[in-house]
Amino acid sequence: MKKKVLVTGGCGYIGSHTVVDLSENEFEAISIDNFSNSRKKMMEGISNLLKRPHINYHINLCDKNATEKVFQEHSDIEGVIHFAAHIYVPESVENPNKYYNNNLNSLINILDCCQKYKVNSFIFSSSCSVYGNAKELPVTEKTPFGEAECPYARTKQIGEDIIQDFCKANPQFNAVILRYFNPAGSHESSKIGEAPIVENTHLIPIITEVAIGHRKSMTVFGTDYPTRDGSCIRDFIHVMDLAHAHTKAVQFLFEKKNETNCEIFNLGIGQGVTVLEAIQSFEKITGIPLNYSLGERREGDVAAIYADTTRTKNVLGWTAQRNIDDIVQSAWDWENNKSWLLDNESKVE
Ligand code: UDP
Repeated sequence: MKKKVLVTGGCGYIGSHTVVDLSENEFEAISIDNFSNSRKKMMEGISNLLKRPHINYHINLCDKNATEKVFQEHSDIEGVIHFAAHIYVPESVENPNKYYNNNLNSLINILDCCQKYKVNSFIFSSSCSVYGNAKELPVTEKTPFGEAECPYARTKQIGEDIIQDFCKANPQFNAVILRYFNPAGSHESSKIGEAPIVENTHLIPIITEVAIGHRKSMTVFGTDYPTRDGSCIRDFIHVMDLAHAHTKAVQFLFEKKNETNCEIFNLGIGQGVTVLEAIQSFEKITGIPLNYSLGERREGDVAAIYADTTRTKNVLGWTAQRNIDDIVQSAWDWENNKSWLLDNESKVE
């Protein structure tokens, strides 16, 4: 029997890739997703890759009664991966309460359900944004939280604190906190990929949207940062690598390899790439010159961040297999193939 894992946000970008990766390994994944920033048609792509219909519950995790019903119906859930969250830095600056309300209430509800239904393996999507503007790079898991540059980052800091406290109060409960750097790219099949409902503000999809003509041009936000070319530095990580890290984390907990009941891992490649270098990679891989201009800094951005991946490699046994060129290639393939997903669909409330 495959062990059952509940994936919240399982029809979203990273969630969908993880559902597929779990299922290709020794797990059965079911999901909760209210399609607030994902598309119902994503179910087709996931099911296609699973070669069976994917089971998803269309539920808002802030609705505790509805969330509980899933745990009641599936008493064999052995672990939870909690992806579901709002994720955009600029949107969080404009509408902080949307972020605090959703990201924190959903986390509290799902932890309550884990406690009530005795699900003791929990994986949380955190973010390198918890480090803020780190004084020393690369950041290790021991690097302290910095001042949050935006409400989104603060929801991840508070979320981690909530989990730490919950773990202290519940010694039988085991959590892995995964701090993602900058996920991008898509599944090699192009059957699933990044297709948010709200306007995407992430760099790599903006590059591909400009290249395909959905946007006229793009702006590099800030060229006066203290970096090698003046643009921000990020650690872009392929979504397929990231998805597999979740499978490793589930195995890690199920095999009781954790030393403490709250383990933290950085998930990045371990190399910083500037915004301009990401653009150059795209132009080199595709041969398409990109229409971009150099502009002002964007509020909420840190200058530079990339991961020290030593602990993740040694303790979790995971390292990224793909680089920035692989990322932009797969992102471009997805951009050219995703129209089926966007056809005839309006926002699902
Ligand atoms: N960025 C940019 N132009 C864009 C979108 C993003 O220059 O149109 C920059 C952004 O300022 C940041 C980096 O790309 O320095 C990564 O931003 P993204 O929103 O992808 O991820 P974040 O690091 O904010 O989570």
